[in-house]
Amino acid sequence: MRHSERLERIPPYLFAQLERKIAEKRAAGIDVITLGIGDPDVPTFPPIVEAAQRAVANPSTHTYPSNRGREEFREAVASFYGRRFGVTLDHDSEVMPAIGAKECIFNLNIAFLDPTDVALAADPGYPVYTGGPLLAGAEAVLMALVPELGFIPDLDAIDAETRERARLLFVNYPNNPTGAVVPDGFFARLVEFGAANDILIVHDNAYSETTYDGYVAPSFLSTPGAKEVGVEVFSLSKGYNMTGWRCAAIVGNPQAIASYWRLKTNVDSGLFEAVQLAGVTALSPQLDRYKAEMNETYARRRDLVCDALAKIGVKVTPPRGTIYIWAPVPDGFDSAAAYCEHVLEQAAVVLSPGGAYGPNGEGFFRISLTTPDDRLSEAVERLGQLAR
Ligand SMILES: *Cc1c(COP(=O)(O)O)cnc(C)c1O
Repeated sequence: MRHSERLERIPPYLFAQLERKIAEKRAAGIDVITLGIGDPDVPTFPPIVEAAQRAVANPSTHTYPSNRGREEFREAVASFYGRRFGVTLDHDSEVMPAIGAKECIFNLNIAFLDPTDVALAADPGYPVYTGGPLLAGAEAVLMALVPELGFIPDLDAIDAETRERARLLFVNYPNNPTGAVVPDGFFARLVEFGAANDILIVHDNAYSETTYDGYVAPSFLSTPGAKEVGVEVFSLSKGYNMTGWRCAAIVGNPQAIASYWRLKTNVDSGLFEAVQLAGVTALSPQLDRYKAEMNETYARRRDLVCDALAKIGVKVTPPRGTIYIWAPVPDGFDSAAAYCEHVLEQAAVVLSPGGAYGPNGEGFFRISLTTPDDRLSEAVERLGQLAR
């Protein structure tokens, strides 16, 4: 059966291929340790689960949700943004639930791109920044993130024709996959760039709650003028161990949110209201200590991995945010994929090859810290033996 050419243009999703390979090895009795996908190993914090249990038992959550979202959820997001980021949001027009950031980012492409349009996408970056524009029948133009520039795009290098055609720009800090945090002044520069070129800036905020060493990540919307030119997609997946729940919110520019809403009324029927009520609890101040504890766990794992890598001569900058270590591929391998293949075959450890996140990810591999300490230690031990 023939599927669409749009679909044909999309490379297979990295983790879908990996899952198949891992399943084959495990079926053959091999003890595979996966440091590939970023999916928290620790359960959702108990007060959130308890709130969800109560909400599921409440019949008011059993009907179709409205795409605008329950008032309690929109209020909770607005109040969290005020408390956490000093950002004022109107909970009626500037907040809407999303069925995960992935859904939201994908659908923004459908809502804003026509066939001759461009979305500017961070490279390396979350795969939906490039797959989304292609599925919308439009084009993604990559913005290189390189270590020399602190993993921020060089906006001045974007040519006039591309600026003219661009309707969307996707960035994310703390950054997946590089672990970089946003340098002072970059968000302000983005606001100028969006305003000057009439481009909707989309800040994918998946990791603001997952930071270390006292670093506190800002919201893009804390930048003056940001709400005029952009939106932020705030996901509860990583910071609250809620990847399976599909709970996120889009906040910021009310016209952009209205367009997203208009699209969604034709696509899905909103986010299960019991999940929205669980989200209300997640965003309350009582959950702060759970996040702090989780971050201590990740910081410990980060140090464990960075020390082990240093011992085998792989130099990395310990990240101040995200759940990833972005490391250079050791000498002697043609590509990140070749190195990761070698590690999987010889050590039964799954790493993510940087090239899967875009051409500028080539030469790097990514380690996710979402594995229990003992398994993580075992994995880095295996890497060390492989290097000897
Ligand atoms: C994990 C991740 C997402 C996905 O978030 P969901 O809310 O689970 O869809 C989006 N963007 C980045 C950068 C991520 O790392």
